[in-house]
Amino acid sequence: MRILLVEDDKPLSNALSSSLRAANYVVDCVHTGRDALSMLAAGQTDSVILDLGLPDMDGLEVLRNIRRKARDLPVIILTARDKITDKIVGLDAGADDYLPKPFDMDELFARLRVTQRRLGTATSAMVAIGDVALNTQTLELTVSNEPVVLPRRELMLLQVLMENGGRIQPKQKLESRLYEWGEEVSSNTIEVHIHHLRKKLPENFIKTIRGVGYSIPVNNGA
Ligand code: CA
Repeated sequence: MRILLVEDDKPLSNALSSSLRAANYVVDCVHTGRDALSMLAAGQTDSVILDLGLPDMDGLEVLRNIRRKARDLPVIILTARDKITDKIVGLDAGADDYLPKPFDMDELFARLRVTQRRLGTATSAMVAIGDVALNTQTLELTVSNEPVVLPRRELMLLQVLMENGGRIQPKQKLESRLYEWGEEVSSNTIEVHIHHLRKKLPENFIKTIRGVGYSIPVNNGA
């Protein structure tokens, strides 16, 4: 899942983004409302973590702007102002969730997992298709009950495909969920990851839809 992190407190933004990346999220960081809106216009964001106190505009204004354009884009708001009124105003303006600062990373992760499930077809943190089971909380993967360790991007790719089991994932969409703004991506990157993944998974687990992308059929091996 690709997250847009809008937070002007740079030490907090750095700490948050490295924790999120360590948990296999793709994170684009911006520090102003204006940059948030232009990043959102690119249309590659799956979910937003939005600080309400921004230097150039009120975070609520950013939120209302998001809601006018992308009604269903999940938004979690962060604010040091932990007064109940801010929470109500934020939720009324269309936030899906609210975390008062200081917050616990585990709590943020739990809320992000809920968001991620809402975007996909999986219904719990444990996603199992055929003989392949992925715990999206611990990132532990088993194939035929044997633990398998994958490199970061391969695991991220497999997670996107499994969480959207039965749905075709276009190649460009997979790229945008694996790589951040400004990262170099060569045109065959996804093919290369898929090639490596297939060697570690049951035969025909990942289906190629020629010229479009990939999908994992949900009745796979079951
Ligand atoms: Ca702030």
